[in-house]
Amino acid sequence: MAKLYFRYGAMGSSKTANAIMVQYNYQERGQNALMLKPQLDNRDGERVVGSRSGLSAPCRFVEELDAIDLSAYDCIIVDEAQFLKKEQVRRLVDIVDGMNIPVICYGLRADFMGNLFEGSHWLMAWADTIEEIKTVCWCGRKATMNARVAGGKVVKAGEQIVLGGNESYVALCRKHWARGELAPLEIRRIAAGKESYLPLLLEADPSEAMIAGYLEGGELYVLLVNGQTAGAAVLAAREDGAMELKNLAVAKDMRGRGYGAKLLNHIVKLCAPRGDRLYVGTSPKNVAFYEKFGFVKDYVVEGFFAEHYAEPIVEDGVVLTDMIYMVRRL
Ligand SMILES: [Zn+2]
Repeated sequence: MAKLYFRYGAMGSSKTANAIMVQYNYQERGQNALMLKPQLDNRDGERVVGSRSGLSAPCRFVEELDAIDLSAYDCIIVDEAQFLKKEQVRRLVDIVDGMNIPVICYGLRADFMGNLFEGSHWLMAWADTIEEIKTVCWCGRKATMNARVAGGKVVKAGEQIVLGGNESYVALCRKHWARGELAPLEIRRIAAGKESYLPLLLEADPSEAMIAGYLEGGELYVLLVNGQTAGAAVLAAREDGAMELKNLAVAKDMRGRGYGAKLLNHIVKLCAPRGDRLYVGTSPKNVAFYEKFGFVKDYVVEGFFAEHYAEPIVEDGVVLTDMIYMVRRL
């Protein structure tokens, strides 16, 4: 007999990646798995499920179920199932019991205030199998709560669903959610929404065009201090196989506290298994900083700043022309 599954987890517990993997497993066995998600009012109607890790897959909307011939499918997978309405969960139950098609739902259990979502409520009530997908809080305890973060602070009141807002969500254990305590210091890789860090990256590299050239293909890491973005770094692979630090920026009001060093040490550690050298292109002012981390001057790209930047870059009263490449053995 087919079953209705509810697999719930906090933000960042790889629910969407799991959903995509299950679909892939069906396809590998020569079977069809239909990927669905609820369509939220006002949300741009993209028929795609996407995960924080960067994986994505095409999908249909739950609202389109009537127009889909389900007899062709061996399984139905629903992402973002917390947003389902009661009638939609009821419909999924009917598909399981009436057509004998398994339905696997992935979603959050509770919202940022700790209340069940409508979809989660009815899935908890009616699913045959309820499974938890675990993830951890910054303290190492199991994360069960989803904190809404705005301006570096945990927010406890507001609309359950905010569309197109600037807030972000982070998984916390119940204690740290209740106290509104974010990680004292953590480094995260950002896969989606990289462009929102542009103002910070511009502090280390004043050309938007240059940043655009390496941000999309590069790896963006951000340093968060109590939920506030203190710094960012962009790492990329070079054509010669070595790694290159393309940008290392510390927010103006966060400077002089060792955050640049923290980020750089982290980048060096990340690069170690991936090549034997880490390069950085920089200007005279920063040479001493990088020397402290084992970098040595390697070569100079003459006229780099003069050629690639529309506005002259002035550093300590001198217009920059050449870029100094420094290298560190890994
Ligand atoms: Zn915690």
